[in-house]
Amino acid sequence: MQSRNQSESVVSIQALNHHYGQGRLQKQVLFDINLEIQAGEIVIMTGPSGSGKTTLLSLIGSLRSAQSGSLRVLGQELCGANKTQMVELRRNVGYIFQAHNLLKSLTAKQNVQMSLELHDLSVDEAIARAEAMLAAVGLDDRSTYYPENLSGGQKQRVAIARALVSHPKLVLADEPTAALDKQSGRDVVELMQRLAKEQGCTILLVTHDNRILDIADRIVQMEDGYLATNAQLAQTNTAA
Ligand code: ADP
Ligand code: MG
Repeated sequence: MQSRNQSESVVSIQALNHHYGQGRLQKQVLFDINLEIQAGEIVIMTGPSGSGKTTLLSLIGSLRSAQSGSLRVLGQELCGANKTQMVELRRNVGYIFQAHNLLKSLTAKQNVQMSLELHDLSVDEAIARAEAMLAAVGLDDRSTYYPENLSGGQKQRVAIARALVSHPKLVLADEPTAALDKQSGRDVVELMQRLAKEQGCTILLVTHDNRILDIADRIVQMEDGYLATNAQLAQTNTAA
């Protein structure tokens, strides 16, 4: 990863557009996106279904190639980036999805351990870190359980442990509470918030869940492929 000066944003997006499809079937889904996210910030993105939130998240996470404009993440320009650069960036990003995406054939601990595979650690070290991280999400007594024997909230906590165990600088979460009841959803985001503050990482979290907006430092809104003016949380609270 190339060095970057300290004042540079973790995410810096200018005039980003995105199209799906080719030729006459081509459809633009992101329009002139501009967004800066600073180190340590927790930013929540809301907006209707189909407005482009997942597309934007997958571009920022380098899971999809950026096409036009400028998208800098952790100092790496992703528009025009090659495969090696894209893969390298992914090592520094933690992902949490709506469906937990745990591997069924692996225990909770093995699922967490797996995300350390790309990092040069001994097996013993990886196991120790996975165990410590499961303890941090309150699941030390479930480390040998398989996903099918865990509740929805527990699975999502394993997913959080998996995303954070490598101490990524940036965590991207796409509707992480969507499949959870109110209390589990609340627990899961408070856990993310606490761990992020402890590790000093930056979070961008997409959600429809109005009950968790208060964990954000800042809320941004997507609508029809456009990012609405950044609303400060204070203003949102005043308006509510
Ligand atoms: P959101 O996450 O806000 O629901 P998405 O980013 O998933 O929105 O989708 C934005 C738009 O792009 C939608 O119109 C959707 O149908 C379209 N879209 C999403 N993924 C693809 C894809 N892989 N191929 C073609 N169109 C897509
Ligand atoms: Mg989505």
